[in-house]
Amino acid sequence: MDFEAWWLIFVPLLFGLGWLAARFDIKQMLSETRNLPDSYFKGLNFLLNEEPDRAIDAFVEVAKLDSETTELHFALGSLFRRRGEMERAIRVHQSLLFRSDLPLAQRDHAQHELAQDYLKAGMLDRAEEAFAVLKQTAFALPALRALIRIYESEHDWGRAIDAVDSLRTLVDEPVPQLVHYYCEQAQAALAIKPTADVHAAQQALTQAVRAAEAAQVAPDSPSLVRVAMIRAGIAGSLQDGMAKRKHLESILKQSPEFAGLIAQDLLAHYTESGDAATGLNLLHAHYQQYPSLDLFNVVFRAMRAQQNASSAWAFARASLQSHPSLLGLDRFLEAELAQAEQERGADTTVQVAVPGADLLLLRSLINRHTQRLDRYVCRSCGFQARRYYWQCPGCNAWETYKPRRLEEIE
Ligand SMILES: [Zn+2]
Repeated sequence: MDFEAWWLIFVPLLFGLGWLAARFDIKQMLSETRNLPDSYFKGLNFLLNEEPDRAIDAFVEVAKLDSETTELHFALGSLFRRRGEMERAIRVHQSLLFRSDLPLAQRDHAQHELAQDYLKAGMLDRAEEAFAVLKQTAFALPALRALIRIYESEHDWGRAIDAVDSLRTLVDEPVPQLVHYYCEQAQAALAIKPTADVHAAQQALTQAVRAAEAAQVAPDSPSLVRVAMIRAGIAGSLQDGMAKRKHLESILKQSPEFAGLIAQDLLAHYTESGDAATGLNLLHAHYQQYPSLDLFNVVFRAMRAQQNASSAWAFARASLQSHPSLLGLDRFLEAELAQAEQERGADTTVQVAVPGADLLLLRSLINRHTQRLDRYVCRSCGFQARRYYWQCPGCNAWETYKPRRLEEIE
């Protein structure tokens, strides 16, 4: 390759240009710096020394001197919000919005900040209004996400569904909780007094299944278990026993883990139709494949009531051996005591399972430990609850509860 020496002249030339540019930058920076008030540096210093209170005072001073500096107002506003000083945060952002000379992009930004202030302050009505204004702006996406959260917390499922639809027009983002919104609508329709709106509930469930298909929800997902459970409830209220059985048994097949939630209902259905033994056999077989404490409880009690004490104990012994569980033992003793009470009046000192042992004392000892374990637990925030929740009351996340008790998860 030929190399022409005269090209070398560009090297010092480029260096020279670089030096000039740097000098120009430094000069400009110095002149800008000289224009900044002292309070600005004081504030920065306090911030670096982790003294946010004094930093805020200094910055407020600067903001008073130089009311044009919008960036400083934004920074102050978010500092206030982070520290939970909501009134001050709201005031800063409102004052920005009152400015007639504020460019449109910054106006939207201020509106978004103000909406977040209201949300954090728990002023849901105002937050909702403030976010709604942003639907046609660059902040539409975060605004819609926030609106969905607000409608959810207000249990306004219709508007939550509309907001999800709007979100979908902007971004292809899965919103799996949409199925639950329709389930909530269905349950609300069923709870109408004095007469439930069964038709509306069924329509909402059809929408729920459609939403699940659109979101490609897994066939064993909790949301579809919920749909089947509500459908079973509706069938029961319409005295359609076969449909009720079909829906409950579909859960055993599709989502076997959830059997514990519906076992009692399914057994009751078989018992009402005069076929209690078939129901028990079905659940017993399911337990062999998918053991869980809730199912153990139902099967053991049914065996004790339908068959005899010795077969029920044999089942309990085998289960506790293969899955040692304090809670299982507790349930066993509880059922045993209840049965003893039923069979021999209120005299619980006469024992059935282990002659000579004081089951009442034994159970009270065990029960003290199992109280803590007898709970469902949120995988996201750790909130514990006695009943099963589709949405965590602690952190509002959906489907964070496994249909298993704490002892089985630990
Ligand atoms: Zn939670």
